Amino acid sequence: MLIYVQVLNYNYLSSVFNVLIGAVNFMDELMKNYVDGEFSEEGKRVTIRSPVDGNPITDVILASKRSTIEAIDSAYNAFKGSWSETTIRERQALLSKLAIKIQEKSNEYALMESVNTGKTLRQSMLMDIPLGISHIEYFAGTDEFRFSREIIHPEYPDTKGIVQNAPMGVVGAIAPWNVPFLMAVWKIAPAILTGNTIVLKPSHHTPLTALELAKDISETGFPPGVINIVAGTGNEVGNTICSDDRVSMVSFTGSTATGKKVMAMASESLKKVTLELGGKSPNIVLPDADLDHAAKGILFGIFLNSGQLCESGSRLIVHSSVRETLIKKMTEHLKRMKAGNPMDMETEISAITTEDQLHKIGDLVNEGEGQGARILYQRDLEGSVPENGLYFPPTIIDGITDEMVVGKEEIFGPVLAVSEFNNQDEAVSMANSSKYGLASGLWTRDIKNAITIGSKIEAGTVWINEYHMLSAAAPRGGFKKSGTGRELGLEGILEYTQTRHLFINQKESDLDRVAYGLIISDDQD
Ligand code: NAD
Repeated sequence: MLIYVQVLNYNYLSSVFNVLIGAVNFMDELMKNYVDGEFSEEGKRVTIRSPVDGNPITDVILASKRSTIEAIDSAYNAFKGSWSETTIRERQALLSKLAIKIQEKSNEYALMESVNTGKTLRQSMLMDIPLGISHIEYFAGTDEFRFSREIIHPEYPDTKGIVQNAPMGVVGAIAPWNVPFLMAVWKIAPAILTGNTIVLKPSHHTPLTALELAKDISETGFPPGVINIVAGTGNEVGNTICSDDRVSMVSFTGSTATGKKVMAMASESLKKVTLELGGKSPNIVLPDADLDHAAKGILFGIFLNSGQLCESGSRLIVHSSVRETLIKKMTEHLKRMKAGNPMDMETEISAITTEDQLHKIGDLVNEGEGQGARILYQRDLEGSVPENGLYFPPTIIDGITDEMVVGKEEIFGPVLAVSEFNNQDEAVSMANSSKYGLASGLWTRDIKNAITIGSKIEAGTVWINEYHMLSAAAPRGGFKKSGTGRELGLEGILEYTQTRHLFINQKESDLDRVAYGLIISDDQD
């Protein structure tokens, strides 16, 4: 479901907020954390600035350790209370109500998401927010998830088994800064569907849409404590979540480096951990590909959100016979991509969300150049983007070797590294040479061959003649250093559960006589 809202000649923040969202003016409002059904001011007040142009957007309370512990207390008490008695249908009804509420304010959410992250308003309005809403609707409507199923025990035919998918209890969810609304949805909705309570920590860089979501959650009818949202830093809020004994599971999305720390902390109390981490995803173009289609898809794969997506297709692996034609087609499109204020509906190039990330991208590209990488094309953004904003020009490089950090590490920015191959096996081995394994693209007209190759790629998602398309019904996650566990789909739902087996014997049988006879002989009766 995609919506399109006409907001042409959008004049950043000053007038359009009022035109578009009427009386709502979230910029004057202090955004608070949501703990035990109340809005909490406990913590540190900070001003959030927009990467679009450096202007302040609003003030936010970054939660303290104390309010994080309160959030865990309330999630724990809510789980031990009546929440655990609710049915799947009751929980789905609440999710459904939440989706309707968000839909009514979807423009407002899109504006917040864009002004906070710097992603284009076009992307928030047409992709991130409607996709997030449709994903809540999926969890609210799916009948794939069943609380229990009956089994037979082949060894004991007179008995019966019931396997239940019981909730984990309190889920601690930690999210990155790049797709805050989708992340909040992907963590809250399946955790709630399966009967857990949750403490969500959005990134302190981009907390706005998650804190807005708290307002809608507060009006939807979830009992206090079932969903808590505490924006704050990793050291303060994240550590507290990972080390509290009452949190049974941590669902983490972020960098591989932080994922390792989270896993180490969680191991102290033996929590279940799912990790959705970084990537260095390949896009393979075979010689029989539709090159017009592939050129657009590869650009979409790397330059959507200015490359700040975990599964961004940052490595182009192209057959030598079509390399030149493909690069030419790509650069023609790149020249036409509209640069400007991301809050203008026509702009197609997103800002970089944080200053640290902007420096990291620049440093990696400079280092690569120093080691012999070559810039094939770099779009000039000079004068076309807002002053004081954070921008990095879409860039294509080649001449990458295995030793270069730029070739093997995630850049998380608008930088595409090109390499070429001469036969299919070589392409597969180049694709799999990365320590990461999050996603891959494959461009060819031969679908049978694509399925053969796709089945050899070490990645959680392989798009064939497509990129970035996410379905709520399809599990996503990483092989190798890209993570463990899955998000979305039935596999993603089941991550939030633990199985309980009820073994039912209705009468004494021969089985008992043989089994008990192992230690209790008849003459003891
Ligand atoms: P990050 O690892 O720096 O932070 C992620 C989250 O962890 C943030 O909320 C942060 O505050 C928190 N955190 C930091 N230190 C912590 C600690 N010691 N204990 C607990 N929590 C801590 O990542 P980021 O820079 O916010 O996001 C970018 C990364 O996220 C990229 O590597 C990207 O690939 C990855 N990502 C992965 C997926 C996926 O689904 N695989 C999706 C989006 C982003």
